Amino acid sequence: MAEATPATAPVLVVGGGWAGLSAALTLCRHKVPVVLVESARQLGGRARSVRSDKRILDNGQHLVIGAYQSLLTLMQQIGVDIDAVFERLPLTLQLYRNNKLSLKFKAPVLPAPFHLLGALGSARGLSPRERLQALRFSRNVIHLNVTAAEDFSVQTLLQDHGQPPGLVRKLWEPLCLASLNTPIDLASARLFTRVLQTLFAGSRPDSDLLIPCQELNALLPRPACEFLESRGAGVELGQRVTGLDIDAQGIRGAILGERRVAATQVILATPHSVTRRLLSRHPALQPLAAKLGELGHEPIATLYLQYPA
Ligand SMILES: Cc1cc2nc3c(=O)[nH]c(=O)nc-3n(C[C@H](O)[C@H](O)[C@H](O)COP(=O)(O)OP(=O)(O)OC[C@H]3O[C@@H](n4cnc5c(N)ncnc54)[C@H](O)[C@@H]3O)c2cc1C
Repeated sequence: MAEATPATAPVLVVGGGWAGLSAALTLCRHKVPVVLVESARQLGGRARSVRSDKRILDNGQHLVIGAYQSLLTLMQQIGVDIDAVFERLPLTLQLYRNNKLSLKFKAPVLPAPFHLLGALGSARGLSPRERLQALRFSRNVIHLNVTAAEDFSVQTLLQDHGQPPGLVRKLWEPLCLASLNTPIDLASARLFTRVLQTLFAGSRPDSDLLIPCQELNALLPRPACEFLESRGAGVELGQRVTGLDIDAQGIRGAILGERRVAATQVILATPHSVTRRLLSRHPALQPLAAKLGELGHEPIATLYLQYPA
């Protein structure tokens, strides 16, 4: 007979990236017993700092925009001073091609939507006609609602809205790559319209760029770990979940190598390929696992430069 899960068992959060940290912190703040398990020896997942010789490097530059309200609120709730860890700048986009400035726009300090109308209307590198076309598209996109079922590519979206190839190449393609890390022929029109709506239809500070001025670990992973541990939550590093303990009654816990950890609920905050593997062993979860199998990966290259002191 399966061992019963004790009523006092915690919720188990698998994965200590920012998603797992956010889940664990939210449960902890609501006084729900929680244990976070992370397979690496440190927290932070893809947004972490790593030590290389004597240097501390971020795993790629990470930018936040003012519209990341849930993240910023979470950071404040655990005592992070947002103004100390980020430098806040008005949305600025500056692109170079063949060593020449090809596009520059900067949002003026005006209430929304005039900040972005001002930015596009005065953008360097766009002809007056292109500015008008970009403004028209920006106005139309605010009212668009692309559902997941009818989603199509950003390329199709731009073509349908009469955006000429030169403008796509100069403005929309780099903006799509910067925000979704996916080329326009593959990127989702639904996600891109959400990004543009956030930039164009939100309040002016929503479009601000927040540039970390401290290492990534100081932004969330380290203060989150301190918050969790000071409130009695478990944080286990170097522990890989290898299976889920599920029976006819539901989830019982997770398997960590030789060990079974009892849990009332399990939150998988793991990369989709890991989640798929963990789910696919359980017949009832196979349809969900199959859906996750349809997702791919997009690489990001990071170039580190070191200048003389
Ligand atoms: C170079 C780079 C630049 C980026 N720039 C930006 C940016 O500017 N702005 C932005 O918003 N986003 C950016 N991102 C994306 C952002 O980093 C990710 O969206 C975010 O970190 C994902 O967090 P996550 O918690 O969902 O997943 P992850 O960070 O992948 O966390 C999953 C965690 O699960 C752990 N894990 C995996 N398998 C197991 C297991 N079996 N048992 C236990 N633990 C397990 C992993 O070790 C990992 O720590 C960037 C990403 C990269 C790589």
